[in-house]
Amino acid sequence: MRVYRADALRGQRALVTGGSSGIGAAVCRALAMAGARVVVNYLSNRDEAEQLVKEIQADGGEAMAIQADVSQEADVQRMFRQMIDTWGSIEILVANAGIQRDAAFHHMSLDQWNMVMNVNLTGQFLCAREAVREFNRRGVIPEVSCAAGKIISMSSVHDIIPWAGHVNYAASKGGLLMFMKSLAQEVARHKIRVNAISPGAIRTEINRSAWETPEAEADLLRLIPYERVGDPMDIGHVAVWLASDASDYVTGTTIYADGGMTLYPGFREGG
Ligand code: NAD
Repeated sequence: MRVYRADALRGQRALVTGGSSGIGAAVCRALAMAGARVVVNYLSNRDEAEQLVKEIQADGGEAMAIQADVSQEADVQRMFRQMIDTWGSIEILVANAGIQRDAAFHHMSLDQWNMVMNVNLTGQFLCAREAVREFNRRGVIPEVSCAAGKIISMSSVHDIIPWAGHVNYAASKGGLLMFMKSLAQEVARHKIRVNAISPGAIRTEINRSAWETPEAEADLLRLIPYERVGDPMDIGHVAVWLASDASDYVTGTTIYADGGMTLYPGFREGG
């Protein structure tokens, strides 16, 4: 389904963290469809990342895979260096990598807490910092985009909906909300836009248990007024719009792409 101009992002260079699977892969495909060159960042599954690069290339797009752990400063700096050495700069960062390490609170280990914070929050900081440094170095190139750069953080409806049993994850996404807004306020005068997408329930590996059986899916659908589980490309389309000049006056905001999940509770007639 092609729902936007194929040249919306022509000439722009994008990096998508955790780009080889799920939502990240759909974002890579969507950005490439809109004309951007795309770095598919991956943590460990090189085959999956290379396969996606091949698919984008077969579709007429340009992409390359770069390994990096977003929670490691040296890895993140190496990844940005490699991208900038190869393609000259970056206009779009989609900081998508994220993990869950679920546990009842009284059983949650410090490792489970730290891993989620390191990837979901520190990873956002490390990647956004490298992006801002490069956006500031280069400045605005009007033929390419009205903005010097765009950062899109992949958050979650659990940045505002509490999530019992997932305190580490909800805390990381809630923290990301203020990270995104404060950074947006700080860098707006440099013509850098920072926004977030908060997906609801999207059919990917991270939440397989919530949709893989008919019973689980029926339970999930009770929370979604639009009565369907989301597709990764639902998020890809939002990312294209936030990355494009069509959203040039939008910064510091979150788009809830959730089929109405945040309109809780009691949406159904008769309770
Ligand atoms: P996913 O597990 O397919 O994607 C997560 C990606 O992040 C994977 O490719 C993984 O390898 C990568 N990753 C993990 N740790 C990393 C690290 N240290 N460095 C680099 N990459 C790393 O699941 P997804 O659903 O596609 O999740 C993508 C994002 O969307 C996450 O931030 C998640 O919190 C968010 N999200 C997903 C849903 C959903 O319903 N699927 C809902 C809300 C938010």
